[in-house]
Formats: sequence, structure tokens, C-alpha cells
Amino acid sequence: MRYIVGIDIGGTNIVAGTVAEDGSELLGLVSQPTIAEQGADAVMQRIVKLARASMAQARGKEIAGVGIGSPGPLNTKTGIVLLTPNLGWTNFPLRDRLGQALGLPATLDNDANCAIFGEWWRGAATGAKYVIGLTLGTGIGGGIVIDGEIYHGVTDVAGEFGHVTIDANGRRCKCGNYGCIEAYAAGPAIAERAIEGIQSGVETSLSQYVQGDLTKITAQIVYEAANDGDEWALDVVHETARLLGAAVASFINIFNPEVVVICGGVTQAGDKLFHPLRSEVKRRAFKPAWEACKIVPGTLPGTAGVYGAAAVFIQKHWGLR
Ligand SMILES: [Zn+2]
Repeated sequence: MRYIVGIDIGGTNIVAGTVAEDGSELLGLVSQPTIAEQGADAVMQRIVKLARASMAQARGKEIAGVGIGSPGPLNTKTGIVLLTPNLGWTNFPLRDRLGQALGLPATLDNDANCAIFGEWWRGAATGAKYVIGLTLGTGIGGGIVIDGEIYHGVTDVAGEFGHVTIDANGRRCKCGNYGCIEAYAAGPAIAERAIEGIQSGVETSLSQYVQGDLTKITAQIVYEAANDGDEWALDVVHETARLLGAAVASFINIFNPEVVVICGGVTQAGDKLFHPLRSEVKRRAFKPAWEACKIVPGTLPGTAGVYGAAAVFIQKHWGLR
């Protein structure tokens, strides 16, 4: 049995793990904060250290390569990350730099593509032929898996579901567009909408969760308050579900998938999110499309990206089973 190091590079954390080629085992799962402020080279060194730490925990196993999932845009053929403002990388040859540092062949793909591919390989969408997925975190990423392959489009941009416009005159998004779903339903946007309500005088216990310091409100705190029964927090979660539902209805009409898998912190909201989301999809999408489609949370929290990054390597070199 061969093993592959899977690396998931996020804006907040870097996660590495050593995955068996048949996906049956994940060894040496390690993670560290990214600390992007320290610059591109410091981040690079941290990735190398983390990969080595994971391999050390898989001692005695045959390590055949390394699969990397990184924020993009990036070029999967050249292995170059074109521009990631959060990590300070511009035209950065991540795949080759990391491969050389570790002395291993390497592959590179988009982080969200990897997460959805991981959920297809060993998670919530196993066995499905047509899969789309969203990763909900600091931003919203997406991935498309058709017939067991990631669909990349002509220049590796396909599946950027977070930057679909849901309101042509809406909120400014970090990508430069207006009204992207990310500007409403990513973690920081959820917190922002909750804070706006407090500032306009709605009745809510939310500020008690942060001792009155509204800047400390996060999406997690909004879910917590919603679970405790706070009406405004519940409204914010329902509105998030409604907006996501509108976006997902469009994706379902376009792709007619068997499974929509939703990964990330937002899934902590559980049925409070998924129930209204599914109703909204039913209200908007074509019946034969939503009838045939499961909308489910990911089942590999924190590790989908590691599994997927390894799977990209395996598929490229030997094909997946
Ligand atoms: Zn955008």
C-alpha cells in the first residue's frame, strides 16, 4: 500500500495528513495556524514542516507523493498559484517548490475542489456520478465532480459558486463584484448582518455573548444564540438558508446533480439551516431536479480537503478505485 501526503492550505489553518491510496486510512493528521502576515516564505516553510511532521507519524509507510489544495486562482497544469492576496502569493510555483523541498512528486488543485472531491471519494457523496458542493467558511468555495473527475473549465475557474450574483445591486464582494452569495452567507458576512440588526435596534441577547463588544460576534456565536432560542439570531440563520437556497436552486437547475454537499462551519447550524434551505430549493428549482437531489452536510469535517488533495494525486498517477 502506498501513501500520499494531502495538504489543505487555508487562510486560517494549514492541515496535513498522510492518506492510504485506497482511502482506508488517514495517518499523522496535523495542523497549524497559517499566519499569512509573516509572508509567503514563512508560510511555505510552515507547510514543509507540517508535511514532514505528518510523514514522521506515518514512519515505515511508502510515501509516493504529495497532493496540495490551495486557495486560487491557480493553474493545475503548471502548478502555479496566480494570486492569493490572503497568503501574499503572486505567480508562486507552489507545486514545484513544495515537491522539491520534500523530494516527492506533487499535484496542485483548488482547495474547495479538493474538499468536494474528498467528500465524493470517501465522504457524503461517495458513489454519486454528478456532485456539486459548497465550502462555507471565511469565504464560499465550490467544486463540481462529474463521473469521478473534478470539472475545471478551460482555465481552472469552474465551480466558483461563492461568486454567483444573487442581487445585482447588492453588497460589495471581496472579488470586486456586487451581490455575490459570499457577501451574504460566508462566516464574516453572517456576523455582519447580525451586527447590523443589533445596531438598528432589534431585540436580541446576542451582545451578551460577547460582553457588549459587537466586533467579537462571529457566525459561530450567531448559531449558538440561535440554538439557545434567540429570535434575531434565528432570523439571521433562516435568511442565510433562504439566500443559500436561492443560489443552490440555480446550481441544481444548471447541473441536475444527485448530491449537493455543503461543507464547513455553517453546517454546525444543522437542521436550522438545512431545513429552510431545502424548502427554498423546492420552492425555486425544477421538480425533477430537486426530487432527484440530496442536499447534505459533509461527513469529513476538517479533513475533506486533505483526502481530496491526496485523491487528486492518486487519480493523476494511478487512477482512483
Ligand atoms: Zn464575489
